[in-house]
Amino acid sequence: MNLLKEIGNAKSIAIAGHIRPDGDCISSTLATMAYIKNALPGVKVTVFTQDNPPTIFSYLEGYDEMNLTYSPKEKYEVFIALDCSSTDRLGESMFFFENADKTICIDHHETNNGFADVNEIKPEACSTCEVLYDTFDKQYMNDSVAVCLFSGIVHDSGVFQYSNMSRHSFEIVGDLVEYDFDGPKIISETFYEKSYVQNQILGRALLESILFMDGKCIVSMVDRKMMEFYNVLPKHLDGIVNQLKNTRGVEVAIFMYEMGTQRYKVSMRSGGAVNVAKVAITFGGGGHERAAGVEMNGTYYDVINALSREIEKQMN
Ligand code: AMP
Ligand code: MN
Ligand code: MN
Repeated sequence: MNLLKEIGNAKSIAIAGHIRPDGDCISSTLATMAYIKNALPGVKVTVFTQDNPPTIFSYLEGYDEMNLTYSPKEKYEVFIALDCSSTDRLGESMFFFENADKTICIDHHETNNGFADVNEIKPEACSTCEVLYDTFDKQYMNDSVAVCLFSGIVHDSGVFQYSNMSRHSFEIVGDLVEYDFDGPKIISETFYEKSYVQNQILGRALLESILFMDGKCIVSMVDRKMMEFYNVLPKHLDGIVNQLKNTRGVEVAIFMYEMGTQRYKVSMRSGGAVNVAKVAITFGGGGHERAAGVEMNGTYYDVINALSREIEKQMN
């Protein structure tokens, strides 16, 4: 796909990612806005997002311009969905999706079935930012676009660590670092650095984690009382599941936090033996082979039992 060709002569473009935006989501939406502004000056471009995206990304161009209110409810000619596996994850930006003349979806979730008019979905890509890079004309890339793409790749690949990094992903990174930004500083300040209370709650989650299935699975949970005590929001819990996964012998790590009474947001990470996207889909979620998520109802133990039944099926 060539993004500019797909946009054509449209004069207004709405861009949105998924609810509870992560690094790849924020970076891909802001990269697209910066790119279009550079390539098509005069075209109206708005990025819609919710939940006050993490302030660690405030160094990205356009961060302060993101529309958090989803208003005014105007029609945009083109709608671009990024890093979003299904329309129910668009949240309130669904309005702009439904009212656009043309919809475009760029993503890397294997569970994405191509819900837009035009779709570019590459499950083999490490991030939406990687897919996006291949849709851009190099002549309209600049430092602002490059730093966004770099940030998205860093976040969705766990700093180039996960198996989703291909030769092509590394080649893109190689090209991006030719632009003017401080990559190591971005990695350290946006990926590794956590606030004191975030580290405290990570410590609690590790202390209270439970190994099961002969040490092949690990699970931990943060309830609302704990979140209130440490005064943290869900977005501050990013990374806990990855730390759980770093336990030797563990094939599948499960982390969940309490969203409401008997309702949990579940994150899963796999070493490869289990396709956690399949597990998530069973309960209405989605994601990738090695990283997936879902929202589930029931007690903490109901949720663990339901998940472990599905995980066990794949282990045998
Ligand atoms: P998380 O653990 O929430 O960071 O999610 C891991 C991966 O699964 C990300 O790529 C998410 O976009 C995806 N994901 C998380 N929750 C859901 C869900 N409810 N439905 C579909 N995909 C999800
Ligand atoms: Mn994402
Ligand atoms: Mn992504």
